[in-house]
Amino acid sequence: MANAEIGVIGGSGFYSFLEDVTEVQVETPYGQPSDSLFLGEIAGRRVAFLPRHGRGHHLPPHRINYRANLWALRSVGVRQVLAPCAVGGLRPEYGPGTLLVPDQLVDRTKSRPATFYDGVPLPDGSASNVVHISLADPYCPEGRKAALAAARGRGWEPVEDGALVVIEGPRFSTRAESRWHAAMGWSVVGMTGHPEAALARELGLCYTSMTLVTDLDAGAETGEGVSHDEVLKVFAENVDRLRTVLFDAVGELQSSETRDCLCTHALDGLDTGIALP
Ligand SMILES: [Zn+2]
Repeated sequence: MANAEIGVIGGSGFYSFLEDVTEVQVETPYGQPSDSLFLGEIAGRRVAFLPRHGRGHHLPPHRINYRANLWALRSVGVRQVLAPCAVGGLRPEYGPGTLLVPDQLVDRTKSRPATFYDGVPLPDGSASNVVHISLADPYCPEGRKAALAAARGRGWEPVEDGALVVIEGPRFSTRAESRWHAAMGWSVVGMTGHPEAALARELGLCYTSMTLVTDLDAGAETGEGVSHDEVLKVFAENVDRLRTVLFDAVGELQSSETRDCLCTHALDGLDTGIALP
């Protein structure tokens, strides 16, 4: 049985250079994940990579099956997730190439199944109870430390906190929306960070977001606003060093067997009504 300990949700650029990658297709009660899982080893740790948008990048953010993705990762043994993603900077000083490890999340999505605990019967006939988990601190404190240390170890000084606001997309923000997000004190804007983080917590997984700023969001600049080409160009320019930092972060993560962070205790005392994989 294929197994992994750490999950990485990101593009194919993160695992295409690994040797001995095993492709595994995983079925879930919530349907198909974005793609197969690609299992390999980094720094002696077993890692499962999942291309968030599918390997051909065909899934827009609002059509990603986030529940199937997190469920699939947990079902191969993943207990800690690193989630790199491209974002827009909401402050002029967070220009393209900035690496920001958020400590807060704001959900402005509209149409995504965002919980495993909706009471809808699963194919096996079980149904979840009403479950309210805490998401006051949406990211794993230990995973954040590992990500920050890995970036500093490579001389890429990260922004060590900030709020990631997640919009529905797939369009980018209007200038008014962008100015509003910035005025609220939020730092970066993306389209995939929610419900990924919340679903990870619902499964008791550690989840750490690593955001790469690819552009200044509409309100933070005076030009034409964001273009998709601009995002892809900056991401391509930075994917090598992001992969290096990501791999270092994998090696820095706490032991999955002995972890005792708040994520581990997310479901303590709760009866979910469904069997987690
Ligand atoms: Zn944790």
